[in-house]
Amino acid sequence: MNTTLTLYDTRSRQKRLFTPADPDNVRMYVCGPTVYDFAHIGNARPFLVFDVLFRLLRARYGAEHVTYVRNITDVEDKINARAAERGISIEALTEATIADFHADVDAIGCLRPTVEPRATGHIAQMRAMIDSLVASGHAYVADDHVLFAVGSLATYGALAHRSLDEMLAGARVEVAPYKRDGMDFVLWKPSRAGEPAWPSPAGIAVPGRPGWHIECSAMARTHLGDTFDIHGGGIDLAFPHHENERAQTLAACHVDEMANVWMHNGFLQVEGRKMSKSEGNFLTIRDALQMGTGTELRLAMLMTQYRQPIDWTQKRLAEARALLGHWADAIGEGGQGGEADAAFLAALSDDLNTPLAIARLSELAKEGDPSLGPSAALLGIDLAALAAERSAHTEAVTDDMREEVEALIAERLAARKERRFADADRVRDELVARGVVLMDGKNADGELTTDWTIAK
Ligand code: AMP
Ligand code: ZN
Repeated sequence: MNTTLTLYDTRSRQKRLFTPADPDNVRMYVCGPTVYDFAHIGNARPFLVFDVLFRLLRARYGAEHVTYVRNITDVEDKINARAAERGISIEALTEATIADFHADVDAIGCLRPTVEPRATGHIAQMRAMIDSLVASGHAYVADDHVLFAVGSLATYGALAHRSLDEMLAGARVEVAPYKRDGMDFVLWKPSRAGEPAWPSPAGIAVPGRPGWHIECSAMARTHLGDTFDIHGGGIDLAFPHHENERAQTLAACHVDEMANVWMHNGFLQVEGRKMSKSEGNFLTIRDALQMGTGTELRLAMLMTQYRQPIDWTQKRLAEARALLGHWADAIGEGGQGGEADAAFLAALSDDLNTPLAIARLSELAKEGDPSLGPSAALLGIDLAALAAERSAHTEAVTDDMREEVEALIAERLAARKERRFADADRVRDELVARGVVLMDGKNADGELTTDWTIAK
């Protein structure tokens, strides 16, 4: 592949040419889910965006030369609270939630990451990092907690581009009397009876559990080394989570940077409003899969460039459905072999410009270009499978039914041409009652046309 790849880096605030430290092992870490409940469609966004990047990196460097680590946060206070609320063990809750999560990300076509480490499997590595941070003066023990001393690291704030004063003013930091500085954050805390607990680091006698930030530093270090190529997540994670991950890693591993590129996806809202349970517009991936197929959800999400905010609407889902229909019809049931289109690749390689890449797919479909299938595959869309599904569906419609439906459609078009709109609407209602989905359009001569399928 001779197109260059550029990615926007949050730390340097610019699009940068991507050159992996080791092209034989391109390394990416993405913060994964905290497993206490179903993932919502906002959570789906980073998993989809970085799945597309994973596919692009595999195409560029070879599938066996890319390591994608996406962790599972299975120790966190929200998990304890939810398990207690439901009267089940923490393990029962996290196992069930992980199974649901896998089913959801599979349904929207995400490849499994190379490694999916769990925080509970890396406690020893976290303890070792914490011990070394205390030994080097970057962390201190207070009241059975271990805290990271942000003042000990000159570049703290370099990712979020904020000074300590600005961070303090902007963040809702937990005020605790034992903190030397208001911004110092927890690496380890003591556990009360009933809370998950492990032997503590730094000579603390009571058992405890890790803070969220150290989990990612330890898991990334274990599976990718002290520095790696790409670190990703939603923009809400840039501060404080990623800033703190970076601080821990820089201080404990004596490196200048944790990741060469820090990438953050924009937020998703629903029908113009912030998604929240109290607004009544909270949508899990499960809920969304009732409204459209996994492929439709996937494309609907990718119609916006990943750094922009998304407004999730029914209309967007319908647009994605229509596009997929056109592309699947263009490809027929042909194979998926061959190369992706150069202009498509150039768009995708320009900081994942998926809207431009999608526009190019529509051009390829119009031209009947055989690179349509392999190009769509890089977005995780299998057009040959879609086309086969559509034709199986069409074959299931009997010839008698086809004749009846087509006669009714002709009647409706005639009524519309003659401006007998009440008649046209009556015929349309009859078709809808039979489960027919109508797709109105215009042909090259500007005449009204109607395509149809049977609702699934
Ligand atoms: P969490 O399980 O809350 O830590 O979130 C998992 C991932 O989803 C993180 O990368 C978050 O930044 C991301 N995320 C959460 N809410 C949204 C949203 N509404 N839009 C886009 N990304 C989100
Ligand atoms: Zn993380």
